[in-house]
Amino acid sequence: MAMRRVAFHGRHLLSSPHLFRRHMSTEPMAALDRIRNSGLLKTQGLVGGKWIDSYDGKKIEVQNPATGDVIASVPCMGTKETTDAISSAYSTYSSWSKLTAAERSKALRNWYDLIIKHKDELALLITLEQGKPIKEALGEVSYGASFIEFFSEEAKRIYGDIIPAPLSDRRLLVLKQPVGVVGAITPWNFPLAMITRKVGPALACGCTVVVKPSEYTPLTALAAADLALQAGIPPGALNIVMGNAPEIGDALLKSTQVRKITFTGSTAVGKKLMEGSASTVKKVSLELGGNAPCIVFDDADIDVAVKGSLAAKFRNSGQTCVCANRILVQEGIYEEFAKAFVKAVQGMQVGNGLVEGTSQGPLINEAAVQKVETFVNDATSKGANVILGGRRHSLGKTFYEPTVVSNVNRDMLLFKDEVFGPVAPLVPFKTEEDAISMANDTNAGLAAYVFTKSIPRSWRVSEALEYGLVGVNEGIISTEVAPFGGVKQSGLGREGSKYGMDEYLEVKYVCMGNLKET
Ligand code: ADP
Repeated sequence: MAMRRVAFHGRHLLSSPHLFRRHMSTEPMAALDRIRNSGLLKTQGLVGGKWIDSYDGKKIEVQNPATGDVIASVPCMGTKETTDAISSAYSTYSSWSKLTAAERSKALRNWYDLIIKHKDELALLITLEQGKPIKEALGEVSYGASFIEFFSEEAKRIYGDIIPAPLSDRRLLVLKQPVGVVGAITPWNFPLAMITRKVGPALACGCTVVVKPSEYTPLTALAAADLALQAGIPPGALNIVMGNAPEIGDALLKSTQVRKITFTGSTAVGKKLMEGSASTVKKVSLELGGNAPCIVFDDADIDVAVKGSLAAKFRNSGQTCVCANRILVQEGIYEEFAKAFVKAVQGMQVGNGLVEGTSQGPLINEAAVQKVETFVNDATSKGANVILGGRRHSLGKTFYEPTVVSNVNRDMLLFKDEVFGPVAPLVPFKTEEDAISMANDTNAGLAAYVFTKSIPRSWRVSEALEYGLVGVNEGIISTEVAPFGGVKQSGLGREGSKYGMDEYLEVKYVCMGNLKET
């Protein structure tokens, strides 16, 4: 979704008379009050430890996608504020990188503790600005916090090496040192976790960071940054700017002080950032779009396959880059699977994420709904059948019915591209070779899922899939302890796990020579 929500015409939550008439709208009010009372409703950018407005006073309104109401306004920043944030990160780098690993670890651990202490407020904030059900938002807070905890521990394990020297009077050492100032650009679908997954390892390694969260979901980022300050992460180590994305991006790319760009978002923007990093030869990590196949073989346990593909498809209303995008089902099990899958999808409750029992929230914006409509229309015009849903939901706004489309094939957009919405395309296949060929028939290569009871097939297919992550008989596989990242045009580098540290480190070789006694 390239279109940014810069809504200058939304109604302000506090001043809307409609709020008191509509049943659900009192819920967001109470949620917002609770966040405000906890001190975590931050509506300014963070530069050098100071909360600041944009220099020209421009603002962006942040909307609740479930109601269309404006939650808050944040500064619309650009080149100048970003340049100052970079300077502040650069000057803090010299002190932060010189702390001991134990000191950095302690500050990160304090941050983790504070995130957990405020998990309810952070989850409410995520649901308010992003729309996901509160249960999923709480899950995101735990998941997001886990990166801070994990990397607070990993900070103490940045080991170097001693290499046996080819000459007797020499000693060869390998040191691992922080890469420097990091520019981190993040999307709206995980307003907390996509930030902690980058900032955790960066700070653990001794880097300092300028984060640009999505303009749709800046409030969670700002609340998390406030907790970082409270935790003792020094002013300037973590800066947050938001507003004019291309201006902020260009300022980060052009700066010789920024040594690394880490990005999660669309493949198109990722390619621009990679290109823009060339002029200053920055280190680059990219987590880009996926087109996840979910392969259900005849020999699968049908209950496990339905549960796993449901979770992999409909998490966050289909708005994650690891969401099952194509459910490939072998002919012998196709009808049975389709029936059981439709029944499971029918059981999902669509609504405002703050309402208990909701499992499907709204999509992030109107452009997202239009994309889903285009994909479904394209499929039906080419012979696919909608067997469940297929329309905007009666709740209006950006709610879309959980949808199942059968008989999808390679010619359809639903097969070729990420739908990023609650639409499950079922694609029949005959043989294992067909399934692998269809699964790999894409430029993307992030997550793939396989359902089978055969152990040899699990190995064979996992190894044949051109993907960075494979879930076997499991639909939810992300964890802070395992490497996350894609192959082909899904990205570069890995996040989480010990491998996630490498992205923020340089390897330095030191040769100690002339060590003979004189
Ligand atoms: P999505 O489709 O998830 O919104 P985007 O790639 O458009 O994906 O957005 C991901 C992040 O990249 C957001 O923070 C967005 O503001 C930012 N972004 C978009 N365009 C640019 C750009 N030209 N330079 C830098 N950041 C950008």
